[in-house]
Amino acid sequence: MFIVPEAAIADILTRTDAFTAVEQVFAALSAGSAHNFPVIREAIGHEDALYGFKGGFDGKGMSLGLKAGGYWPHNLQRRGLINHQSTVFLFDPNTGKVAAMVGGNLLTALRTAAASAVSIKHLARKDAKVMGMIGAGHQAKFQLRAALETHSFKKVIGWNRTPAALLGLAEVAMQAGVPFEAVSLDGMTEADVVISITSVFSPIFGAAHISPGTHVACMGTDTIGKQECGTDLITKATVFTDEIGQSITLGEAQHAIKAGLKARDAITELGAVINGAHAGRTSDDEITLFDGTGVGLQDLAVAASIVERAVEKGAAIEVDF
Ligand code: NAD
Repeated sequence: MFIVPEAAIADILTRTDAFTAVEQVFAALSAGSAHNFPVIREAIGHEDALYGFKGGFDGKGMSLGLKAGGYWPHNLQRRGLINHQSTVFLFDPNTGKVAAMVGGNLLTALRTAAASAVSIKHLARKDAKVMGMIGAGHQAKFQLRAALETHSFKKVIGWNRTPAALLGLAEVAMQAGVPFEAVSLDGMTEADVVISITSVFSPIFGAAHISPGTHVACMGTDTIGKQECGTDLITKATVFTDEIGQSITLGEAQHAIKAGLKARDAITELGAVINGAHAGRTSDDEITLFDGTGVGLQDLAVAASIVERAVEKGAAIEVDF
């Protein structure tokens, strides 16, 4: 088996590779050639941690495995470690033998960023100029960096509960040569594309904050009970997702579904748009919303791409296991 340690990933995984792997796996998922296994995510009753497993099998990309890990909210203050900790294990689909162990932290950040970027590429208006960010935590900078590569954005606007954290987003915008402005949530109506990436359990924005024609990528809700936007926005928007089963149970759409405000059939997998089976956006006034729940297959696809590159570069550690 091959081991690719966390510290090696930054030199191996590019945003382009992550984007391609995620776009392909969304397409395979929607075509039925790949499927995710049910997600396990548990509060372990220690360190306020959430721990679990996301796995699946992609019969087209031939990746089988799981990501084990979760969220330790006190890591940063207490130990100087990031709060998300995970590891991906890949198995040979022909034999079941373990094939690789890959650090999953940067991988998760880049595959999550790739997911919203893939949604922006396929669902935002081609003339989108203003990029809006709601949230400025660990993940937000990755989301913004990848999003800025999809369109010629002329401005980035951002809101965060604690405005000081917006400096990180301003830096990313500056590196991409795009001006940044901190705004109130009401100011989000200026955006043509909005990414929300917060860990909130009750809505912080809704239909009143989003203008006609905007594409919204809701990326923060990946657990039962979390909610970033009001059900009024889910009802108003044309909703797309990475996987319908996750969207309606643990994604942003879970609340509108539960309240009977949105039908499961009205939610489309982004892969159907990528495959050309669904038209995606059909007018310049339509609000499109991507419910990015984070599927195990994304992790496996990106991990497989990392292993391939690491072996090519001589950066993978081979172990007889
Ligand atoms: P983080 O802890 O670094 O940042 C949390 C963000 O939420 C910050 O911007 C913070 O200001 C905001 N926030 C928290 N409580 C708030 C409140 N009450 N009101 C307003 N804002 C509030 O976390 P992160 O690593 O940036 O992750 C953000 C979210 O994204 C988490 O919920 C995480 O589980 C989720 N996530 C989803 C995926 C996916 O694939 N969809 C992948 C990774 C992370």
